[in-house]
Amino acid sequence: MKTVLITGASRGIGAACADAFGKAGYHVFVNYNKSEDRAERVCEKIKAEGGVCTAIQADITDRESVRRMVSLCRYHGGGLDVLVNNAGIDFYGTFEQTGPQIWDSMINTDLTGAYNVIYAALPELKNSAAGRIINVSSVWGIHGASCEVAYSAAKAGIIGLTKALAKELGPSGITVNCVAPGYIDTEMNARFDIKTVADITDRTPLSRTGTASDVAGAVLWLASAEASFVTGTVLGVDGGFM
Ligand code: NAD
Repeated sequence: MKTVLITGASRGIGAACADAFGKAGYHVFVNYNKSEDRAERVCEKIKAEGGVCTAIQADITDRESVRRMVSLCRYHGGGLDVLVNNAGIDFYGTFEQTGPQIWDSMINTDLTGAYNVIYAALPELKNSAAGRIINVSSVWGIHGASCEVAYSAAKAGIIGLTKALAKELGPSGITVNCVAPGYIDTEMNARFDIKTVADITDRTPLSRTGTASDVAGAVLWLASAEASFVTGTVLGVDGGFM
């Protein structure tokens, strides 16, 4: 049975990815940091549908806890075939409001967090017959967003990491790709008012906001055999917004 580790999978895009991989027959490792109850609920749903799932606590900014998480994947699943680096945080405010603590926390979570998990998981992925790394970037990592400078910088870093690592790991048979979602209806975006969301919808050719399942579909495809010749790419999941 193939295995997948999805970071930040107790809710939102991560939970939708967990659900999609569970339905596709993977043993799903649902990483969470604090929300054990919600992670267990994600697992229960997958198990109720006949799937296999294990919830594992780890803070992706803490290298020791990441190392432990990967060991547990090896112990419970025999290794890792797919890694989805989804966990992330955002900060909305001007650059002048982005004090050093906020900056460090954004980069540590959204960029270094992905590095930490890839670094720990790479030996497992190299043992897989078809290792896959799928990182979650953002449209703002490509184009930059006003009042989201730290977030845009971290997500642009994810794109650079993806492209460079794809070249390095190609000879090991591992593909490395990322998705760049536009506005997706999750708790991360709960702060936006109806008018802002309507404005984004107006500017989106497909005339709607995205769902977590829209992103999960793209992630699952990047993990599939059909995408085996796709690496180093940034797949937009934004309804044409950009
Ligand atoms: P979300 O806030 O619902 O989910 C983020 C998850 O990451 C949460 O479960 C959170 O607990 C987890 N997380 C945060 N810090 C962590 C840490 N240190 N260790 C482990 N887990 C941690 O948001 P979402 O919308 O589902 O976002 C998922 C990913 O998609 C993020 O990387 C986000 O930047 C990206 N993204 C979201 C949108 C959007 O519009 N929602 C657009 C583009 C990209």
